[in-house]
Amino acid sequence: MAAPLYLVVLGKQGAGKGTQCDRLSALYEIPHVSTGDMLRAAVKADSELGREVASVLEAGALVSDDLVVRLVDERFTQADAVGGALLDGFPRNLAQAEALEALLGAGGVSLCVSLEVPLELVAVRLSSRRVCRDCGTIYSERDPSAVSGVCAKCGGVVEQRADDRPEAIRRRLETYERDTAPLLDFYRSRGVLVSVNGDQSPDDVTRDIVAAISERGVA
Ligand code: AMP
Repeated sequence: MAAPLYLVVLGKQGAGKGTQCDRLSALYEIPHVSTGDMLRAAVKADSELGREVASVLEAGALVSDDLVVRLVDERFTQADAVGGALLDGFPRNLAQAEALEALLGAGGVSLCVSLEVPLELVAVRLSSRRVCRDCGTIYSERDPSAVSGVCAKCGGVVEQRADDRPEAIRRRLETYERDTAPLLDFYRSRGVLVSVNGDQSPDDVTRDIVAAISERGVA
């Protein structure tokens, strides 16, 4: 059996990680594990975990390392993750990257893809992003679904994420620079980092990531 494929996708908020992870998940048949999506689902379900993290998410701050590491550890035990996973939004700092190494053991992370997008562009993308509260479909603010507030796919409410408002965006991008950008050196030192230009059409970004994966021979 082939070795499991663990891909970490890094990039600023709004770099297109979610879109690319959905595509790569279908291509390589491994689950898209987004800690942000898992936490938002918990908030929506109003579970004990959701109530614990709701205000942290709304402010655009980070929840505790222990909590997200536990979430990811549990997710890895599910049947669909035996062949690996695509990690989106995790790890977010060095402590989480080290915890992930401990979870994965010998093989570790197969490849870390860094989606490079200029700061000015992500700030514009984030502030114009609208999301369906029910199915998670992402729209730009000028899309008819965003204008009407009604999702074309499921009829749910389309709105702006609380953490896509200017103050929270600023905070999230600062946190990224301080805590997450150092992971580039971490994965470079392990010889698994590839950088991809994220400022192209989604198809071109996917093409470059797939080429990097096959060049490295990890899938
Ligand atoms: P995201 O969708 O990845 O931007 O995540 C949304 C929010 O979930 C973040 O602003 C954090 O509050 C929380 N979050 C997601 N992933 C992590 C993580 N790995 N560590 C800490 N907090 C996280």
